[in-house]
Amino acid sequence: MLNIVMFGAPGAGKGTQSELIEKRYNLIHLSTGDILRAEIKNGSELGKQVEAVISKGQLVSDELIIALLEQEISRHADANGFIFDGFPRTQVQAGALDEMLAKHGEKVSIMLALSVEENELIKRLLNRGATSGRADDNLETIRKRITVYNEQTAPVMKYYEQKGLLRAISNDTTVEECFAQVCKAIDAAKA
Ligand code: ADP
Repeated sequence: MLNIVMFGAPGAGKGTQSELIEKRYNLIHLSTGDILRAEIKNGSELGKQVEAVISKGQLVSDELIIALLEQEISRHADANGFIFDGFPRTQVQAGALDEMLAKHGEKVSIMLALSVEENELIKRLLNRGATSGRADDNLETIRKRITVYNEQTAPVMKYYEQKGLLRAISNDTTVEECFAQVCKAIDAAKA
């Protein structure tokens, strides 16, 4: 299996690159943001709780997101591999991901860390907000999400760096240029 962790601040392009990787390498794309938004759409009690957290730009609980992800991995036991987009976002989640994969005799193959300069991140998210209809793509919530990323998520990069799995890629470029770098890193990991 090829298991790729997509890392980076909100607006760094994880979702866009994940979709391109999914097609080229025939992997299962698991976006925790999409999984949570589907839960909200359901209108369940859980969905309502999730909506309140997301619209404030905060993280949902580790327990909840780990349980949801575990379900998705088990549902696709026959996959060629996974793209984890938006997970792990905390140290606890990073440890949990290793445990989940180990249960299936698997591990993380590579972690791709996309970087975009902060003003550009805000610009891209505001642009997306104009059409996405996402309740968290407004200036106040975007700022909060970037703070949460810097405080809780960015430190997780160390965890992968220590395992020799971190590949840093600038996405202050076009989608195509970034994808070329992404493919280079993945092909090297596969070889
Ligand atoms: P972005 O990366 O652009 O912020 P996502 O769609 O990945 O967008 O996530 C949207 C929101 O969903 C996050 O701000 C957070 O509230 C919640 N979320 C997504 N993934 C996780 C996770 N792994 N742990 C906790 N909360 C999460």
